[in-house]
Amino acid sequence: MAVERTLMLIKPDAVRKGVEGKIIAHVQEKGFKLLALKKLKLTKEQAQQFYIVHKDRPFYDELCEFMSSGPIVAMVWEGENAISRIREIMGATNPEEAAEGTLRKLYGTNVGENAVHGSDSPESATVEIPFFFSRLEIVE
Ligand code: UDP
Ligand code: MG
Repeated sequence: MAVERTLMLIKPDAVRKGVEGKIIAHVQEKGFKLLALKKLKLTKEQAQQFYIVHKDRPFYDELCEFMSSGPIVAMVWEGENAISRIREIMGATNPEEAAEGTLRKLYGTNVGENAVHGSDSPESATVEIPFFFSRLEIVE
């Protein structure tokens, strides 16, 4: 077991639904520690940069349009195997296919507007955490 840090985003659809508090409480109740949190709005260019690995996928433009369509909440969470466990808590990309009780099942709208993002590997977390937070903003 390794203590890991992961980046999570509450996407614009979930912020519009007003479920930020429920999502944060859900992750806390699973035993993770919140190290950093901010609300912000990405420009389309910033969303394109964040999702650059998907630049050749057919949904890239729609995804970046959506991710810059309203405020989001960015967070850093820490805990044992935080990266894979938070992905499990989030559920499958498509809320319709996500397991009962997962965040995407509970709060997602559709395959694009699926409530939350979570880093998918240690390599992604290492890039995604500093995309949103400086070292001084991450408090143990
Ligand atoms: N996405 C989409 N259409 C698709 C697949 C993905 O709009 O067919 C969006 C969705 O918001 C997803 C994001 O692109 O969360 C990144 O896709 P990925 O396959 O990496 O899913 P994730 O890792 O977020 O589960
Ligand atoms: Mg992914």
